[in-house]
Amino acid sequence: MDPFEYLRATDSDRAVALVSEDPGTSYLAGGTTQLDLMKDGVLHPRRLVDITRLPLGGITHTESAVRVGALTTMEELAADPVVTERLPFVREALLLGASTQLRNMATIGGNLLQRARCRYFRDPTVAACNKRRPGSGCAAITGVHRMHAVLGTSDHCIALHASDVAVPLAALDAVVHIQGVDGPRAVPLTRFYLPPGDTPHIENVLQHGELITAVEIPLLPREARSHYIKVRDRASYEFALVSAGVALTQEDGVIREARVGLGGVGTVPWRAWDAEDVLRDAPANAETFLAAARAALAGARPLPGTAFKIELAQRTLIRTLETVSGAEP
Ligand SMILES: Cc1cc2nc3c(=O)[nH]c(=O)nc-3n(C[C@H](O)[C@H](O)[C@H](O)COP(=O)(O)OP(=O)(O)OC[C@H]3O[C@@H](n4cnc5c(N)ncnc54)[C@H](O)[C@@H]3O)c2cc1C
Ligand code: SF4
Repeated sequence: MDPFEYLRATDSDRAVALVSEDPGTSYLAGGTTQLDLMKDGVLHPRRLVDITRLPLGGITHTESAVRVGALTTMEELAADPVVTERLPFVREALLLGASTQLRNMATIGGNLLQRARCRYFRDPTVAACNKRRPGSGCAAITGVHRMHAVLGTSDHCIALHASDVAVPLAALDAVVHIQGVDGPRAVPLTRFYLPPGDTPHIENVLQHGELITAVEIPLLPREARSHYIKVRDRASYEFALVSAGVALTQEDGVIREARVGLGGVGTVPWRAWDAEDVLRDAPANAETFLAAARAALAGARPLPGTAFKIELAQRTLIRTLETVSGAEP
């Protein structure tokens, strides 16, 4: 790892000013992504500003939402009683991610900003990676890309977004609260991430130095049911091959409101708007679920190594819909 200067911030305004004024300065939260990438020689910040002493922890509740401070850990959020009762698929997504040790260090802000798990991105000896070196090409497209995306890809990058909890958060219309040198702003999660297009190195709408301060998660209606299913190569401590997070509100066997997110398939946490359109006001049955699953994956652009994900994602979404709705398979 290259030498770097370490500063511990006690004041948010000062932290934002320090990082904003210098492209070589980055924030450090739990460090589970940032330090990995520095040790691997992918990132070379000259200075880290540790934000863990800033007053950005804690969870507060209103009648309609949960507000999560950016420094709240994954374990803390999963243990929150309101999340447990009203947002079960958020809790499930959190607890299916990483390991207990990591979840006790990893913050929600850092989770949303975790970098690609693409092996070529994480190996600086590989020359071709448009995300790491803009304009250098993409080794994954012609290489091993089994763990890559089929939705939202471009000819320049197919890396998927690996966060589990971002899947239900996208489905719920969660809002990211941000502090910058020009003041605060708020961005819906569904508009926070940028698909790769021809600028894969620009992953989200944050300007350099902007700090995530909180995430606001709207509550589901009390009568809604939700569930998150994650399919992976081994039973624990593994990223998703595909995942689905679904919340449904039903009335006499008819779906009134549907929220559908997919993981493991998109270059950004994937909100399956087309599937939701199919589900809304339709009977909760096998025919509807198959149509929704097909709609969700209709825009997929498979490569040889990712083609299996289309059917796997459809089946995973159908299974999740069956479980949430209580409909027999
Ligand atoms: C072995 C392993 C397995 C994992 N498995 C999973 C999994 O299955 N599912 C899953 O979802 N995740 C998984 N993760 C990812 C893990 O959830 C993230 O590493 C973690 O959430 C990042 O949080 P952090 O606080 O450690 O962030 P850091 O590493 O401190 O920071 C990450 C990035 O975010 C920036 N940053 C952090 N906080 C802020 C903020 N408030 N405002 C602005 N910028 C900020 C940092 O500068 C850095 O660029 C895994 C990680 C590892 C190492
Ligand atoms: S998929 Fe994206 S991150 Fe991976 S090598 Fe290609 S450009 Fe780099």
